[in-house]
Amino acid sequence: MGHQTMCDATEMQNDYADYFGCRTFTGDVMLQHLASDVFESLQETIHRGKPLDPAIANSVADAMKDWALSQGCTHYTHWFQPLTGTTAEKHDAFLEPDHAGGAIAKFSGDMLIRGEPDASSFPSGGIRDTWEARGYTAWDATSPAFILPNDEGGTLCIPTAFVSWTGEALDKKAPLLRSIDIINKHAMRILNIFGTGKGVTCVNTTLGLEQEYFLVDEEFVASRPDLLICGRTLIGAPPPKGHQLDDHYFGKIPERVLAFMDDTERQLCELGIPIKTRHNEVAPGQYEIAPTFEKANVAADHQLLLMQILRVKAREHGFVCLMHEKPFAGVNGSGKHNNWSIATDSGKNLLSPGDEAQNNLQFLTFLCAVMRAVDLHPDLLRASIASAANDHRLGANEAPPAIISMYFGEMLSDVLEQIESGESRDARKGGTLDIGSSTMPKLDRHSGDRNRTSPFAFTGNKFEFRAVGSTASVAWPNTILNTIIAESLDYIATSLETSLAGSESLEQRDTQVRKLLQEIVKKHRKIVFDGDNYSQEWHEEAEKRGLPNLRTTADALPILTTPASLELFENYGVLSARELTARCDVCLEQYCTQVQIEARTLVQMLSIQVLPASLRYQLELSQVVTSARESSIECSRTAARLHDVAELANSLQEAIETVQNAEKFEAEDTALHANQVRDILLPAMLNARTFSDKLETLVAEDLWPLPSYTDMLFIR
Ligand code: ADP
Ligand code: MG
Repeated sequence: MGHQTMCDATEMQNDYADYFGCRTFTGDVMLQHLASDVFESLQETIHRGKPLDPAIANSVADAMKDWALSQGCTHYTHWFQPLTGTTAEKHDAFLEPDHAGGAIAKFSGDMLIRGEPDASSFPSGGIRDTWEARGYTAWDATSPAFILPNDEGGTLCIPTAFVSWTGEALDKKAPLLRSIDIINKHAMRILNIFGTGKGVTCVNTTLGLEQEYFLVDEEFVASRPDLLICGRTLIGAPPPKGHQLDDHYFGKIPERVLAFMDDTERQLCELGIPIKTRHNEVAPGQYEIAPTFEKANVAADHQLLLMQILRVKAREHGFVCLMHEKPFAGVNGSGKHNNWSIATDSGKNLLSPGDEAQNNLQFLTFLCAVMRAVDLHPDLLRASIASAANDHRLGANEAPPAIISMYFGEMLSDVLEQIESGESRDARKGGTLDIGSSTMPKLDRHSGDRNRTSPFAFTGNKFEFRAVGSTASVAWPNTILNTIIAESLDYIATSLETSLAGSESLEQRDTQVRKLLQEIVKKHRKIVFDGDNYSQEWHEEAEKRGLPNLRTTADALPILTTPASLELFENYGVLSARELTARCDVCLEQYCTQVQIEARTLVQMLSIQVLPASLRYQLELSQVVTSARESSIECSRTAARLHDVAELANSLQEAIETVQNAEKFEAEDTALHANQVRDILLPAMLNARTFSDKLETLVAEDLWPLPSYTDMLFIR
């Protein structure tokens, strides 16, 4: 039996190894198709950040084409990430007429490196509004090309950055790549100060992303215009059971869902996306999928691909995958935990404390750099995750709050205290955990517990930014995160380079480092909060500490264009003032447009579905009351019910009109419009919803035109 299991495991492993990454142009595939010098040169770019040698482009293009054709591909596309937040692709056929009555497959280095989609309809925040509206896509060799199969064969997708004719970024990838470059530059300076830079060619940020989502049967979605159009329910009475019993979290995965997960994971594997974890989440119908971490740029691309495949595969299994941050009011929302760290190309995680955190000065330097960055720029981090959808999570009484703070845990907080006071003692250790049964193993205990309420937590050897929304492209929050941390690394490196001024003494170096870290801890420790982030006390305490609480997108986005922000991003070459302003405008516009679309959808559902159903029920009730009275039957309670329904239906009509009027608001200035959306339109929608949700609990089920929360959350 045991032997049998071993065989199966080996077979499974071989199978997995065979198909893992088989649809990406990496590793073995590359080796097979490229001459060795071309292969080596490309590896230098991919793994060690060397500039791409344009001389190899033709050979790489040839190899990619041969491989893609051998896999049945008919088309290729430059795959890019416009500011819409999703991905874009325009397919070109490999085959061209050969002018002799036949066709030849053509794909040159030029076609690989540069594309020119006429993509003028994407939002650019004004960058492309001039007469010169050309946009180019440029190959990102550091992210593997991949094949998306279809019934006819497949499409070779080449990850690219999208820039304007002037070189300005029109997408989310270009700024992310720039921000990774500056982390590399300043982290290397820190390594050189500690003498650990030898053998390291570059420093990379690493990202591991946990994606939460809901699965709803597609039949229900088809009868819910709000889910179809907006991805979230705009109305709906709460179900009798939510997650009070916590019986869904980590529970047994339903079979139909498991089949979907298996199928999804298989395709993700083929695309080289290293899926590691899957489980039920807190809410009924909610799940999570998490790949192992990768280099940030690749992880960000893979994340977009993962969302796309979740959606497609869900359809194949008769589900709709809802990625929205808050599909159901009153039910746990969905986020995307952004696990972030920095590592050398030789594989050393620079946020790994080792056995003695209190004496690991290099680790403490990186840790303090992150703390200083978050304390200086909590508002920028809040803005980096701002969207109409995410406001329903962050602004509500839910994890995590809109106030950005950091969790360090007991052991590290103790270390911070030591740094601040200048004394040194042994770090608190976790010790072992005795389960109390002789047959059970003794477990090593972590030195700090978890805090699930913190928006930005240190979790052993990485930071987990938990406030990122489930629909978000992680490129943007990481661009901001990298930039503010690079600024702190630069500050620390410059201070130390100055105070050490060429001194070789290790003792002096350590003294100077401790002195600087002490200053940083004293100044910035106010951002650290290890308690319950949901509590009212924390809101009060945070205000005392002067931490911003930017509840809504309309409050948060304007931070992007303050003179200080514009200068920060321009100084580090991540985004010019024009590029950053454009992004702020695009985000504000998306906020307004999204809510307006929701408002129109809501008005439509209320006017032609909810109201007619309620009026029909009102008529039924009045007929009952009339006939009862004619027969002198006691019906005071039915009459009261009739009264309630009629009153609610009437209030509903008034509320619909208010939403309609609020939605029509037009303003030249997007910031002004965003404020109107926040202050007038959203509250009007919420108000209308309350009448509808009350009616849903009164109107006969056979008359109610929409699937209920119970249907959607519990039937699968
Ligand atoms: P949870 O928050 O659910 O407890 P885990 O502790 O299992 O999650 O960690 C989840 C994520 O952290 C995974 O996606 C994993 O790949 C990622 N991760 C682990 N180490 C690193 C690292 N050095 N850099 C970035 N992400 C990492
Ligand atoms: Mg997590």
